[in-house]
Amino acid sequence: MNNLKDNKNIIHKRKMEKLKENINASIKAANIKRGVSILLTGNGKGKSSSAFGMVIRSLGYNYKVGVIQFIKGQQSSGEEIFVRKKCPSVTFYQMGTGFTWNTQDRSSDIAAANKTWTVAKKMLQDDTYHLIILDELTYMLSFKYLDENLVMEGLKNRPANQSVVVTGRGASSALKDWADTVSDIQETKHAFNAGVMARKGVDF
Ligand code: ATP
Ligand code: MG
Repeated sequence: MNNLKDNKNIIHKRKMEKLKENINASIKAANIKRGVSILLTGNGKGKSSSAFGMVIRSLGYNYKVGVIQFIKGQQSSGEEIFVRKKCPSVTFYQMGTGFTWNTQDRSSDIAAANKTWTVAKKMLQDDTYHLIILDELTYMLSFKYLDENLVMEGLKNRPANQSVVVTGRGASSALKDWADTVSDIQETKHAFNAGVMARKGVDF
């Protein structure tokens, strides 16, 4: 019995040694130091909330952060309230129009999107920003509210040390090619589809 236990422990130790070796080799191989581009897309929950998680991480180190939301819901969200009230150092800008299926006005949406992109572009040229969140930007491209070439140019020409997070469903292939990190979040299940109401502090 004891022999079996010893054997299991030896096998476990060898496995862990091998794992540690592999992890150390990967860490050593990743030696490029620069800002990263991150795309969080897909139909599953967790895109904007993950982006705001990175805002908190950056603020933990007192880095300068900019957040631009390309869509404004009918009600404000917990993250908006928190950032506006408790994080005066964060530059926070909202497009100011509601969801496109609520505004139902294409020309005013396009004007608002372009005005918002002007704000984003300025941030993307400012190397004092460590992290920029472009929340729900994907829709501006899929609705053709913004010119994709201009957006891609702005994203690509940003300062080398600046990281950018783009969120939203249905990201274009240009965005997927551009991003260093792409997470396509799948919806396996969502409570809303079982009739559970969106929850304050969890969903908004
Ligand atoms: P979150 O902000 O919770 O991380 P998200 O950014 O991934 O969500 P969006 O499509 O931007 O997803 O979400 C808009 C709203 O719909 C949020 O309140 C979100 O919690 C909720 N939601 C997200 N995914 C789903 C889904 N698959 N079904 C229903 N509601 C969803
Ligand atoms: Mg979102």
